[in-house]
Amino acid sequence: MSDIGAATTYSGGCQCGRVRYNVTVDLGKPVMSCNCSMCGRSGTLLTFVPKEQFTLLSGEDALTDYQFNKHVIHHVFCATCGIKSFARGKGAGGVEMVAVNARCLDGVDLDLLAVTKTDGRSK
Ligand SMILES: [Zn+2]
Repeated sequence: MSDIGAATTYSGGCQCGRVRYNVTVDLGKPVMSCNCSMCGRSGTLLTFVPKEQFTLLSGEDALTDYQFNKHVIHHVFCATCGIKSFARGKGAGGVEMVAVNARCLDGVDLDLLAVTKTDGRSK
């Protein structure tokens, strides 16, 4: 269950269950709501972790990769149900990061999360 304000390991994944992962994250820090052409349409609430804190348990073969703009982020989605439960790419300094969609985490009360709005559309 969610323990807002401490690094906690959550399980999550897509809707149909092919894609499953564990991620360790502190959901006390705000999640990102972005208005860019991708996030604005899909409504993701993103939290970012180094890839060491993310373990894909199943579904690597179910993922379809999609890239746009600068092609630095892999916007992967489940080929069966279409849900984008996470994305991956390199952050500043070339560190490999995972952007997890907090909406896809099990047992998280989204109403308890602080949301930071990011103006990705203008960038
Ligand atoms: Zn799926």
